[in-house]
Amino acid sequence: MSEDRLVTGALRPDDSSIENSLRPHTLREYVGQEAIKKTLSVYIQAALTRHEPLDHILLYGPPGLGKTTLAGIVASEMGQNIRITSGPAIERPGDLASILANLSAGDVLFIDEIHRLSRSVEEVLYPAMEDFAIDIMIGKGPTARSLHVPVPHFTLIGATTRAGLLSAPLRDRFGIPYRLEMYTPEELCRIVERSAHILGVRSAEPAGLLEIARRSRGTPRIANRLLKRARDFADVRGGGVITEAVAKEALQLEGVDFLGLDKTDRTMLACMMDKFGGGPVGLDTLSATTGEDAGTIEDVYEPYLLQLGFIMRTPRGRVCTPAAWQHMKRTPPAPPAPDSGQMAMEL
Ligand code: ADP
Repeated sequence: MSEDRLVTGALRPDDSSIENSLRPHTLREYVGQEAIKKTLSVYIQAALTRHEPLDHILLYGPPGLGKTTLAGIVASEMGQNIRITSGPAIERPGDLASILANLSAGDVLFIDEIHRLSRSVEEVLYPAMEDFAIDIMIGKGPTARSLHVPVPHFTLIGATTRAGLLSAPLRDRFGIPYRLEMYTPEELCRIVERSAHILGVRSAEPAGLLEIARRSRGTPRIANRLLKRARDFADVRGGGVITEAVAKEALQLEGVDFLGLDKTDRTMLACMMDKFGGGPVGLDTLSATTGEDAGTIEDVYEPYLLQLGFIMRTPRGRVCTPAAWQHMKRTPPAPPAPDSGQMAMEL
């Protein structure tokens, strides 16, 4: 269901037509994530100077923040090729062995959703990451023997939306772990400005771009998608110019409010408020009540609601904050009077 949303950070089928053309190819073009860019450019320079592959990198953060893009940039800045695959696509240890055997020295191997690798595949990955070799079992039963086969020196870039789901031995083997941050409206403005240029938008006013940026939930993929909608609207109604009014009207019609919340967010917040008095409510209960998968709630809805300060995670479950009540135009239940218990005892 979350994939149907206009404001999901996850890839939708209609993204693929523009996604690749909008990807920046150099660190200079890659907007934001300043702290990451600063250290990464040093590591890249050092590796290039020493003629060595870069250390393995782990990128984590919600979908659509630029993990795949950054992996491609690392490969191109290193002057190497990138091989892209994903955790679920590598089903058996043999699949990974053949991917590794076909790499060239210095190549970047990008594994998306790396937390979904099976344990047996992970076991093959450990020695490959550490010693650039894999252990292959030949034969079966008492005559079986293990063969230590070297693989080219490569750089693994793993991406995950859930760092917490990664096994500790795998996590520990990444020399460079980076958490991607959500983007500020100003950074998103620069991203949509660049994208508007690439997409050949006739004209876009700064206020129109900011309107799109503010509704994009800190996520470049969403910003580019909203830009496409605003462009359509501008072409039909605004003479091809994305003005503030055009952007506002286009996104309001799509049910995306001025903070980037859509019907699904509002349904979830309303459910927490109306059925559970604003919480605390456990993730599983919330999932059962809203019909949304618990993982999707954690990966897709919550990061932005947490970022906005609309919900808090407590040991007893999720709680709506006063800002969320205000946004939803609802009044939180009055807290129980502090001495009501005592009065009852005295009566
Ligand atoms: P992820 O792998 O984290 O899901 P992607 O790397 O596929 O995200 O990025 C989604 C889209 O957002 C890409 O098409 C890319 O053009 C754009 N994008 C992501 N990060 C940036 C950035 N820092 N600067 C410019 N565009 C970006």
